[in-house]
Amino acid sequence: MQALVLEEKGVLSLREIDLALDVGPDDVKIAIHTVGVCGSDVHYYTHGAIGPFVLREPMVLGHEAAGTVVEVGSQVRNLKVGDRVCMEPGVPNLSSRASKLGLYNVDPDVRFWATPPIHGVLAPYAVHPAAFTYKLPDGVSFAEGAMVEPFAIGMQAATRARIQPGDVAAVIGCGPIGIMVALAALAGGCSRVFISDLSAEKLKIAGQYPGIVPVNITERPFTEVITEQTGGWGADVVFEASGSPKAFAGMFDLVRPGGVVVLVGLPVAKVEFDVAGAISKEVRIETVFRYANIFDRALELIASGKVDLKPLITGTFDFGQSVAAFERAAAAHPSDVKLQILVGEG
Ligand code: ZN
Repeated sequence: MQALVLEEKGVLSLREIDLALDVGPDDVKIAIHTVGVCGSDVHYYTHGAIGPFVLREPMVLGHEAAGTVVEVGSQVRNLKVGDRVCMEPGVPNLSSRASKLGLYNVDPDVRFWATPPIHGVLAPYAVHPAAFTYKLPDGVSFAEGAMVEPFAIGMQAATRARIQPGDVAAVIGCGPIGIMVALAALAGGCSRVFISDLSAEKLKIAGQYPGIVPVNITERPFTEVITEQTGGWGADVVFEASGSPKAFAGMFDLVRPGGVVVLVGLPVAKVEFDVAGAISKEVRIETVFRYANIFDRALELIASGKVDLKPLITGTFDFGQSVAAFERAAAAHPSDVKLQILVGEG
């Protein structure tokens, strides 16, 4: 079938490829409807690798997907043909030690869509374990379903933070993930979420949400704003969502004594870290790698209307224009948050 194939670094083609579509007893086959373009997909396109994951042979891209179940395995009880669904792209080994601890996201054997050598789902059909396939509630569109994956990262960050009602949060970096983190922090009980960036256009998108306060650090240092807004105390929770070495340097100036810093953004190289600054405030440090046990709660928030991800979908392309969608994403227009590709009718 046709799929969007990353042939090698910088070379994408929409072409025929053979993909395994055997439906095992615990699997479902899904007709793919919508797939979001993720920063990681774009990074494989522009760089051919992310850390230890190196593209060595052609790979289908795409891991933020929603569609319709068209076939179910003999043992599947939670889904039926015709169900609209979204999928969790990482499939762990459920017998692994990490999975048994509930930490299946850090299972070393996890197979994750569009992470070499595992194919993604920018193709008309995919087969996936029913256990990692989630029925979309009525009223949640395919487009929103395909937003659950990136939102799950924000949810994982907010979960790891162990937010308390009324907490004040600071998010460093207003990219798609920074905004997802801010929305999850609000949903988790934060009273106000300050979010910083250099780009006025990005901040404008975040600032349309009540409770999110954009801070343009070309005008004022983030620390100054947080200090002023918290009476000199600091933010209860700081989320690092930029991956920028500069942000790491000043991170602990933002947090209150005894507060928490959650590391979400992945720096490309080693970064400097103010250990004394962290110790002197007894800061709790948390890290986030993808997510585990999040999709059901993410769908609850979207279905209830408490979180509206629709304003973040800033462009939709037909499947035939997939390469153009990736070129657009690689150009990193500051007004783009999430681009999506309509693969089929679902
Ligand atoms: Zn993604």
